[in-house]
Amino acid sequence: MKAICVHAFGGPEVLSLEDVPVPVPGPHQVVVRVHAAGVNPVDTYIRAGAYASKPNLPYIPGSDGAGTIEAIGTDVHGIKPGDRVYLLKPGGGALPGTYAERTLCDVPHVHPLPRNLSFEQGAAIGVAYATAYRALVQRVQAQPAETVLVHGASGGVGIASVQLASSRGMTVIGTAGSKRGLELVRTEGAHFALSHNNHDYIERIREFTAGRGVDVILEMLANVNLAKDLTLLAAGGRVAVIGNRGTIEINPRDAMARDAAIYGVMLWNTPPREMQGIQAALVAGFANLTLRPIVGRTFPLAEAAQAHQAVMAPGAYGKIVLTV
Ligand code: NAP
Repeated sequence: MKAICVHAFGGPEVLSLEDVPVPVPGPHQVVVRVHAAGVNPVDTYIRAGAYASKPNLPYIPGSDGAGTIEAIGTDVHGIKPGDRVYLLKPGGGALPGTYAERTLCDVPHVHPLPRNLSFEQGAAIGVAYATAYRALVQRVQAQPAETVLVHGASGGVGIASVQLASSRGMTVIGTAGSKRGLELVRTEGAHFALSHNNHDYIERIREFTAGRGVDVILEMLANVNLAKDLTLLAAGGRVAVIGNRGTIEINPRDAMARDAAIYGVMLWNTPPREMQGIQAALVAGFANLTLRPIVGRTFPLAEAAQAHQAVMAPGAYGKIVLTV
């Protein structure tokens, strides 16, 4: 079968399409025929060798995917060949990834794909929606009627966060860097959308809240924004650090004065029971149409290198997906 393989950490050019053996499931595993694989920024950090946990080389990248069950292990029950599923496999490469025609999965990494979603949409669920739910609901415990700033709302995690927060009765402010991204953020449920490239946008958010500030910030680029986030919080406000690409100086007094809290969010730290809860809530949200995965761009599997360049470029618009 065809798969993208990485033999040495490096730039996008290290992603090469190769023939590899078809996997065989162990007793508690399944093999999924992958029809689409999601591309996440973390896939690029791992490929570059810049991520905390590195897979053994060579490896097949990818945590997200969707397809049909092709084979099941002898001790697998409740799943059968032909079932449509989406996948969320832990990053860091314990099992081969989803950038392949078939992938080996442990049963807890496989979830039913609602009928109303395409395989491309299924590949856009795993990391993005689970992270948004983990941050908004389980970590900062945002409540209906609170005001939530999704700081970086146009990408995978951002759009999922906007849909989740607006469907739960929160007032949602979202930022994006492009006109197209801003339109998407509004369409998907934000009450106020503005560009993080405008010099006065923090002031405009403050005005939107009549000077009170926001209750919750879901932060996609903390090394740029955390210091100003702390000045934008209402009393008792919480920031969830989801994305971060460096260091930043903050004034702790800004947190102190507001009784504010900063929450780190790392999806892979989610305990299994809580992950089960996340997936159950997401499947219900897709079925009742409050959640709708947005696929902005697709590339064929052979063009994984171009997809890795695209996911790190400005102008995000939902998810980037590889078709297999
Ligand atoms: P993505 O689809 O590439 O989206 C990136 C988002 O960041 C876009 O909305 C982009 O907006 C926005 N952005 C760019 N410059 C910004 C700025 N100055 N201020 C605020 N936002 C800005 O990535 P993603 O999948 O949504 O992931 C977002 C971040 O979270 C990434 O760093 C990713 O690695 C991280 N992440 C962490 C976890 C975890 O477990 N902690 C899980 C998933 C993702 P424009 O392109 O419109 O400018």
